[in-house]
Amino acid sequence: MLNFTVGPVQSDDIVREIGGMQVPYFRTAEFSEVMLENEKLIKKFAKAGDDYRVVFITGSGTASMEASIINTLTTKDKVLIVNGGSFSLRFIQLCQLHKIPYESIDLEVGKALTEDMLLKYDNKNFTAFLVNVHETSTGVHYDMDIISKFCKRNNLFLIVDAISSFLADSFNMQKLGVDIMITGSQKALACPPGISVIVLSPKAIKRVESTDIVCMYLDLKDALKNGERGQTPFTPAVSVLLQINQRLKEIECNGGVEKETEKIAAIAQDFRDKIKDLPFEIVSECMSNAVTPLKPLTAKASDIFNILKNEYGIWICPNGGNLKDVLFRVGHIGALTKEDNDTLITALKDLQKRGII
Ligand SMILES: *Cc1c(COP(=O)(O)O)cnc(C)c1O
Repeated sequence: MLNFTVGPVQSDDIVREIGGMQVPYFRTAEFSEVMLENEKLIKKFAKAGDDYRVVFITGSGTASMEASIINTLTTKDKVLIVNGGSFSLRFIQLCQLHKIPYESIDLEVGKALTEDMLLKYDNKNFTAFLVNVHETSTGVHYDMDIISKFCKRNNLFLIVDAISSFLADSFNMQKLGVDIMITGSQKALACPPGISVIVLSPKAIKRVESTDIVCMYLDLKDALKNGERGQTPFTPAVSVLLQINQRLKEIECNGGVEKETEKIAAIAQDFRDKIKDLPFEIVSECMSNAVTPLKPLTAKASDIFNILKNEYGIWICPNGGNLKDVLFRVGHIGALTKEDNDTLITALKDLQKRGII
């Protein structure tokens, strides 16, 4: 199968080889060294400051979303959430579950967030801001400069789910004043699922230290303390952490995060150029390099997904809920090449010839 979904995505050969090895014992100086290197490189690629910290959670991205919320927000906060799709809905559900007061800025599918939309929320006693910088479900990439300015002038604690955007789009945590950035192993890190990553600013660390939580596994105080010596409180997904280490070092050797982002951008642009004559409409006002969201003009999106899967050995990324028949997405992250784009384009042109699209 050729995988154009947005996670889990294809891994390169060395990462896959690591997955086939015996899992080493991890309470060792050697594993601690790997973890400290993981922390160092994640910080470097996120453009985090020296006094920022990184926590590796064994759990998918949502575990780190929940950990971030319960460890830094309380019922005394008032949170503003950008709501443009199913991932922002997850932030909303988490705030509801943990009784954290919030308001949401509800956007129509595909719409960008503008400076004007934020104006009415100035000086309204908000304390924190939650955004999924790339709302993967609809392929909208929000303008972080606008959000950063708003948060700075209102002194808001800024939590960014960059799970599908980290490495795919440029991001400067320190410059943007981001307090928490979250990512996951199965997106542009191109490793198997199982690990999610939280980068914390000094302000975030302070909030963690002063927040009492009712959860043992996702207690970041404990994770931060263990992390000082390159360890985790409980048995982590050891292999995935070794695979992440391989990937981070690969990216560093190949010229760093900028080069990786350029590579993903080039694959995305190549695909977007090649679909121009096909009966699809791009629905997002502002795209990430990670994904192209497409609305088929002549067929059901779910049919295209099923036929490509069953007859061509290709996974594109289907949508769920009320977008199931309306939208599908093509991912550009993971071990993909322009030749892989050609394979997908050839299959889509064949569907056209068969009268399916
Ligand atoms: C993939 C993704 C997540 C995490 O989902 P999990 O299934 O928990 O890994 C969260 N937010 C965004 C924007 C994502 O793309």
